[in-house]
Amino acid sequence: MRPDLEALSTRLAKLGRIAVGEDMAVNPPIQRASTLLFSDPDDLEDSARRSYGTDGLAIHAALQEALLLIEGGAGAWLTPSGLAACSLALLTASHAGGEIVLPESIYKPMRRVADGVAARFGVVARYAPPRDIEAHAALIGPKTCAVVMESPGSLSMELQDVRAIVALAEKHQAATIIDNTWSAGVFFKPFEHGIDYSVQALTKYQNGHADVLMGAVLARTPSQAQRLRDTAYDLGLIVSPDDAYLVLRGLRSMPLRLARQEQTGFALARFLATRPEVASVLHPGLEEHPDHALWRRDFTGAAGVFAFTLAGHPPQARVRAFLQRLKLFELGYSWGGYESLIAPCDPQLACRGDTRARYDGPLVRVSAGLEAAEALTADLAQAFRALTD
Ligand SMILES: *Cc1c(COP(=O)(O)O)cnc(C)c1O
Repeated sequence: MRPDLEALSTRLAKLGRIAVGEDMAVNPPIQRASTLLFSDPDDLEDSARRSYGTDGLAIHAALQEALLLIEGGAGAWLTPSGLAACSLALLTASHAGGEIVLPESIYKPMRRVADGVAARFGVVARYAPPRDIEAHAALIGPKTCAVVMESPGSLSMELQDVRAIVALAEKHQAATIIDNTWSAGVFFKPFEHGIDYSVQALTKYQNGHADVLMGAVLARTPSQAQRLRDTAYDLGLIVSPDDAYLVLRGLRSMPLRLARQEQTGFALARFLATRPEVASVLHPGLEEHPDHALWRRDFTGAAGVFAFTLAGHPPQARVRAFLQRLKLFELGYSWGGYESLIAPCDPQLACRGDTRARYDGPLVRVSAGLEAAEALTADLAQAFRALTD
């Protein structure tokens, strides 16, 4: 296995040990509590101590510590979903009368947050083509309160030049946020690039078993961590101790799964690149990807999630037939679990304008699970016959 991922597994193995009386179990206990009890009335007001369930409990603290170990940062907060983490980061960094700048390739539900809730509270959202630094420069100004990045972008996989975008934001004292879910916080380190807030959908690789929804926001500096914590606390955002336990459990094997899913992702991408049914493969780890140089500069690895376009603009009915003929790949939203998933993306891309003008064919996203790569490529090969039969 990759030495960096082995080292991470080693560090995660000992994390979160908590004694209960004389017992020290391998895993931390799950405590359920709204109310914590105190013997000294002064301790009730001690802000350095947890005083109530909404502060989180030991299991929440252990998971937050694990996330900070992986990605760095001064503080983290858990949210009930990845989308709630996106919203929390935005609410932490923005204010009425301010403007936010987002890439057109942003995770689609985040666009709804920006154009809906944020707009109702007087925050104006502006969108830039993800790779276009001049367009970012034109939109980022004295009114900008936050610049949001996502790299690679959802579905279409464009990388962003985060250093250039952070420099533009710093010029105007705007906060910077990145949705760093694709890298799981492992393959890309936002705080080393001066980004202020990192968003993770823990639903994906961290939990890894398609059975928990959770998110996290991590902050770079202690003052940003305080602002994040205050915002989350005021919104009453907290996750169940059982779910926090499950995500911490998933994390122990995440480096192993990531190593495997990275490998399978590359194998699938290389296979697809050889197929006449495929127009292009959108995987930043492939040399032919337009942002491959940025990937080499900023990333230490690749998730098992990428996309490809079908050649020859096949009609919708053929695309449907191809997807339905797959046996190992399942149709479904989300990714990062142990099961391979596939999803047609064109309906979700409609909010970005004319997909035919933007992409050289119908766009399909693939998430590699833990199945054998050869079995997955064989499944794609047999299903491709539905495009021509
Ligand atoms: C899945 C995802 C989210 C949202 O996570 P949920 O837990 O499903 O709400 C946010 N951002 C990205 C990039 C994602 O892939």
